Amino acid sequence: MTKNYQQEVLKIYSMLRDKEEKALQLRRAEIEEKVPEIIGIENQIAKLSLDMSLNIIKRKDNLEKYINNTKEKITDLRVRKSELLVSYGYPLNYLEFNYKCTKCKDTGFIGTKKCKCFKYNLNKILYNNSELGCVLKKDNFSNFNFNFFSPQKSPQEPKSPRKNMEEIVSKCWSFIDNFQFTEENLLFYGSSGTGKSFLSNCIAKELLDKGYMVVYRTAVDLITDLKQIRFNSDIDLEDLLINCDLLIIDDLGTEPLSEFSKSEFFNLLNRKLLKRKKMIISTNFRIEELLKTYSERVSSRLFGNFTLHKFFGDDVRVKLNFKG
Ligand SMILES: [Zn+2]
Repeated sequence: MTKNYQQEVLKIYSMLRDKEEKALQLRRAEIEEKVPEIIGIENQIAKLSLDMSLNIIKRKDNLEKYINNTKEKITDLRVRKSELLVSYGYPLNYLEFNYKCTKCKDTGFIGTKKCKCFKYNLNKILYNNSELGCVLKKDNFSNFNFNFFSPQKSPQEPKSPRKNMEEIVSKCWSFIDNFQFTEENLLFYGSSGTGKSFLSNCIAKELLDKGYMVVYRTAVDLITDLKQIRFNSDIDLEDLLINCDLLIIDDLGTEPLSEFSKSEFFNLLNRKLLKRKKMIISTNFRIEELLKTYSERVSSRLFGNFTLHKFFGDDVRVKLNFKG
């Protein structure tokens, strides 16, 4: 797992800029060889601009007239340069530094605020070649099939597993479609192998594709992270868990249940809820078990701030994995 996320992302930006810097040098060398006149024009423009700023400082006589004159000369030269580029079959921006993101000029920041592309690059670090990146190639809605779920209703449940899944999936789609506006959190509960993690991953994939920051943690990993944050002051990790758009906590109840884990889990829930950053939690626990295991303040958050979806039916893991 990548530590120091921010540093890693900044490295991406500096690589982007270096790459473009080198590419621009090559383009200039090419033009210098094929149409040296263009480079001559660029040098003239640079010289005129420099002269102009020196003369502004020195407050030369007839300054206004001089500035207008010089600006006109520069414009003419720019036009000439464009004409030459086009006539030799080059794009107009061939000799310009081309940023991938013009908003932040490939720095990741606009002033002190993170640019939109920062999230995109962070996602790249977190998911490319990562375990979850692989999982999401398989766990996504295009591999989802309601036929995996039995149409037979058992006497213990009010509907068939298939009908139940159809209803849950339709609600998940509205969660995805309204993600920007919703304050909803989802709690998937029910016995193992009923499709909870699969569905969480499907949602993760859709939201990642839309450019949201999604972080996936098993409950066990999450507690390890919370220790890392508490005892090693890992601010980057804390920022990631608290400020990601969606935090998926898989297999709640499998983590070591200490006083530390319970109270840190409560703090995390609380901070995410206050910041209106969404979560999907899945657990094999029944409602009674959740109530028994976690403190009342945790349960009241879970039951008060999450939409509960009960999963039931046969174990579908084999079908989901092999599409059989
Ligand atoms: Zn940007």
